[in-house]
Amino acid sequence: MTITADDLGHAVDELALSGLPVLVHASLRSFGAPLAGGAAALADALLERGCTVLVPAFTEPHFGVAPPPSPSMRPDRNGLDYTRPWPAGPASAPAVYTPGCGLVNDRLGVFPAALLTRPGLRRGGHPLNSFAAVGPLAAELVDGQTPVDVYAPLRALAERNGRSLLIGVGLNRMTALHLAEEQSGRRLFRRWARTADGRTAQVEVGSCSEGFPRLEPRLSACARTTSVGDAVWRSYPVRETLATVVPLLARDPGLTRCSPECAACRDATAGGPLASAPLG
Ligand SMILES: [Zn+2]
Repeated sequence: MTITADDLGHAVDELALSGLPVLVHASLRSFGAPLAGGAAALADALLERGCTVLVPAFTEPHFGVAPPPSPSMRPDRNGLDYTRPWPAGPASAPAVYTPGCGLVNDRLGVFPAALLTRPGLRRGGHPLNSFAAVGPLAAELVDGQTPVDVYAPLRALAERNGRSLLIGVGLNRMTALHLAEEQSGRRLFRRWARTADGRTAQVEVGSCSEGFPRLEPRLSACARTTSVGDAVWRSYPVRETLATVVPLLARDPGLTRCSPECAACRDATAGGPLASAPLG
């Protein structure tokens, strides 16, 4: 059996995604059968129905740099052990991120990498956690993103009645829930990247998402579900998702903690980093 463009199109129709901006997290392997046309066919199925396709296009391995020595640039409760050596990034990466760099973290899967090659791509201005989009609302979604406003694209997605679409992956991949963390009052973690003028800047990034599946029973009522091959597709309206999760996290910050040993969850659920030098 092969998954065809028609199969993908039917799923988009069943989830009533036509014309909407959609943040896509997909495992192509989850289909359990060859996908005719690969990642491009999945993007086509959405774009042909007037969707704007938004993806995380993160580049922490390429552009993240070690924390500078100044204590003001090393906030406490930042989900990080400052005594550990900083991992080396890919040697081939340029020193400074640009939206046209074409790079993306392999761990996000093949779909974001495929989207980056499409004509009309817009990509945000965050050196470590950029979002990229193709389609009619691409510029409106990502152009507001800056190193000090990492989740502007997610707010824009919510404002435009957008969906978060999980294809064969769990809630631990749902980036939109990081915005819920921020809106519940958590400060975002600080990391570091080089700027075009050679400085090292503090930028904001998301925390650990491995505990997000614990929100599943709270969100199942607003999800629409279908399947293609072995892959379950779940579509969540982002505005309703935020409206559900933000008050839950405000009341019980530990709800998304993945394990008692996770330092990132420990610091995030305590409220995130303490005072530091200004961002940027
Ligand atoms: Zn964790």
